Amino acid sequence: MALRNLRIEGDEILNKISRPITEMKDRYQELIDDMLETMYENEGVGLAAVQVGVLRRIVVIDIGEGPVVLINPEIVESDGEQTGSEGCLSIPGKAGIVTRPNHVKVKALDRDMKEFEFEAEGFFARACCHEIDHLDGHLYTEIAEGDLIDVSAEADDEEFEDFE
Ligand code: ZN
Repeated sequence: MALRNLRIEGDEILNKISRPITEMKDRYQELIDDMLETMYENEGVGLAAVQVGVLRRIVVIDIGEGPVVLINPEIVESDGEQTGSEGCLSIPGKAGIVTRPNHVKVKALDRDMKEFEFEAEGFFARACCHEIDHLDGHLYTEIAEGDLIDVSAEADDEEFEDFE
């Protein structure tokens, strides 16, 4: 396994549409392992292949309940609404307020190319929507309300100084 370089906002690959996986290959298995390692190293809860420069429909998510690998994922049902703060490894140090469905049903293939379906709620549903958006070239900043919030460590320090 190896860490991959994250693509950062402004890199035009992030606006491109990823292509489906039609056949599992060793290099995709390796990519999935690298994506997981890169996500954990950067303390993210999700990562799409395009964020490491590969235009394929692969997503990894771990909201603290173990890794989930989604190949060619599709949201087949969604309902409810949640509004909350969202960040992205491709937009470091920032967060935005984004409204998403509170409940989604997702259809995908696992890394053995077996189809499965699951339901996600709350934060997990948000992560699924965010990552699947990446596969169609969309970033959360397109739908965030108002200005992005600075959440970098530096900003935290400044805020702390103001309190003193
Ligand atoms: Zn993202």
